[in-house]
Amino acid sequence: HDYRIRRDAQRFVSHTTDLSSSTDPSNVSVQIIDIPKELCEVYERKEIGQPVTLTGPYSPLEANHSSCHYATKMRRVQIDGESINSVGLEEEQHCNYRRLLVAFGVHLSQTRQIVSLRHTTLMPSIRGLPALIAMIFAPTIELRLDEEGKMKTGVLCGLGFNPVTNTSLYPDHDMDIGFDVQISTEDLVRINEIRKQMNLALYSAESAGNKDLMRSVRRTITTELQKLLEAKRPPNRNNYFGTFQWNRLNPDDRVPKMAEDVSPDHLKLFPLHDDVITRTVDIDDEYRLKMMYHLIWLREKATITTFMCQITCELCDMDFNFTSDLFAHLSSSQHRELVRQLQLTHCI
Ligand SMILES: [Zn+2]
Repeated sequence: HDYRIRRDAQRFVSHTTDLSSSTDPSNVSVQIIDIPKELCEVYERKEIGQPVTLTGPYSPLEANHSSCHYATKMRRVQIDGESINSVGLEEEQHCNYRRLLVAFGVHLSQTRQIVSLRHTTLMPSIRGLPALIAMIFAPTIELRLDEEGKMKTGVLCGLGFNPVTNTSLYPDHDMDIGFDVQISTEDLVRINEIRKQMNLALYSAESAGNKDLMRSVRRTITTELQKLLEAKRPPNRNNYFGTFQWNRLNPDDRVPKMAEDVSPDHLKLFPLHDDVITRTVDIDDEYRLKMMYHLIWLREKATITTFMCQITCELCDMDFNFTSDLFAHLSSSQHRELVRQLQLTHCI
């Protein structure tokens, strides 16, 4: 269970007094227990003698699915009960790699926070496949670097942003995907080559009808795809925190991609992606270094699923008792502005 989304939980406060000591009221300890709403309902029904429907038990081997899109990422994903994929098992419990499940029919429930899927296909277990597929077909991407700028940690995919307002053009369909494997510059070159070939085949009706061109396009794409999917990639252990915010990349870190052999007019359908420079940065200032590690630590704390916490954001000097509040704080404009003022070379 992810208790961060349990906003409906009812809170019970119980007071216990330590009788062994004096009657000093400061000895009263307060214990706050969160009880899920469903559990309260079960208890109430039992009290008035109504039948109670129990669900579960759930196996830890059963796979969980979640949506990549911003609009549905917090919703529960349910696969059609008649589908062979309705119950999926984690084949590799010990490794923490995401797999890709593709659905032809996606239904959003109006009343319940559920996404129902029909006609699903579970893609092969290739490490990093969700991110690679997203980068091959996304209209625009923005790569993310770790705090020290040494490694690519994730990618924001979507239609891009409005440069005037700095807001996403179509936020609902944006996907912020963390890399669970290391994505190299070579991978990006391959992805761009595939995109270039797709452009060559599709930029006009004549090109799509040119048999020689199509044959060469198909051959190149097959070779590049094969190399891309067969490459061995080391794991990426970064704890990624998707913010879904565009234009967070330092312009100096961008490496624009140019294809000299192709006219820019032919690259409009799938524009080539920019790469980013990964490098070693030196943080001389002691405070900035301390804050950088504190921010990494905060982000890790915010992504763990424990509901209660007692954490201070030392940058803003604010205390948090609930992980959900800390999670929200890390994306707040006030916090992000202070992070920006730290002038760490890369976004956190
Ligand atoms: Zn803060």
